[in-house]
Amino acid sequence: MSGRIYFDHSATTPVDPRVLNAMMPFLEGCFGNPSSMHREGRKAREAVEAARAQVAALLGADAAEIVFTGSGTEADNLALLGVRPPAEKGHIVTSSIEHAAVLETCRYLERRGIALTYLPVDQEGIIDPSDVQAALRPDTYLVSVMAANNVVGTIQPIDELARITKQHGALFHTDAVQAAGKIPLDVSRCPVDLIALSAHKLHGPKGIGALYVRSGVELSPMVFGGGQERGRRSATENVAGIVGFGMAAELARQGMQGESLRLAALRQHLLHGLQAAVPGLYLIGDPDQRLHGHLSVGITGHESEVGAFLKVLDDCGVAVSAGSACSAHQAGAPSSVLLAMGFDPERARGLIRITLGRFSTRDEVDRAVAVFADAAAQLWPTAQSRPHRIATEVFAN
Ligand code: PLP
Repeated sequence: MSGRIYFDHSATTPVDPRVLNAMMPFLEGCFGNPSSMHREGRKAREAVEAARAQVAALLGADAAEIVFTGSGTEADNLALLGVRPPAEKGHIVTSSIEHAAVLETCRYLERRGIALTYLPVDQEGIIDPSDVQAALRPDTYLVSVMAANNVVGTIQPIDELARITKQHGALFHTDAVQAAGKIPLDVSRCPVDLIALSAHKLHGPKGIGALYVRSGVELSPMVFGGGQERGRRSATENVAGIVGFGMAAELARQGMQGESLRLAALRQHLLHGLQAAVPGLYLIGDPDQRLHGHLSVGITGHESEVGAFLKVLDDCGVAVSAGSACSAHQAGAPSSVLLAMGFDPERARGLIRITLGRFSTRDEVDRAVAVFADAAAQLWPTAQSRPHRIATEVFAN
């Protein structure tokens, strides 16, 4: 792996060595079950509760409002399935660009008789708050809109959407799996009721997530058993994973401000480098309202050849992706997120997602730009003489 450039941090991130250090004792000597009354058990319990406080602090929440789950997917499922409609039937509002963890759960609920509205997005992938207002019905009991999109990186106006939802009397859930630890999320200022998180997106371990549940919100469990997590998610806790999540949340919270600036500058440097090196390369998504380390681009006229392009990049040591990791098995198919943003099916095949992380460097960015240039020249030799197109031209027709 050495010498490789990993720019796919939206798929997953390397575990921070400080996170690993915090976890190690709980994979070795401290193996107690947090529900046990003896010393070993109490030690594990203390570690779980300390980590719960660290994750809560990332959101400005109380520790008691955090439920640990096995993943971000499970946290989303718990939110959508655990909140019950007041009557037998009800209505949920969500967006057309949610992650499968939300969309597939919504489709399941639809089959069970719940009515769904899938909101449109604009050309940058952003939801118009007036569309949420217009979609609300007397029987709407839940609105679920992601904080930041995993494919194009655009950030939604969550505060405003949550406020509109609360004025209506419904609950508001946000999938913050991509956003948490990268942009500020503060539940004392934003009236969101449920937030899904995942440790492996913020330099923590895989297989551990959390759901923030605002105090007073009623939530039915999905997993029944020994009553762990205050009865909301039974199962012996993943102590090492939880401890790692706590440390990852703590590091993300402490470093957020500086890291945001560093990543935004690095991303701009990357975009300018790529635009100069690859003819026809254009930005996808909002230029400003996006995750700092997230760059999504297309290459005019070569959208259907992205698979071959990524293969050359990979062979040359650069790991990037064609959208979300979960849809990688559908490579070559148009991205549903880009279709929702108004791209025609041909162009919707052409997304290259480049996502930077804590350990990404300027040197890596410069080397990646050179590899992109070589790969483009190798695949499309005649394109080198073509004039560059700019992002807005993608939408010109
Ligand atoms: N939600 C979003 C926006 C994601 O990007 C992902 C993972 O890619 C998930 C949910 C699922 O999280 P996990 O991989 O922890 O199940």
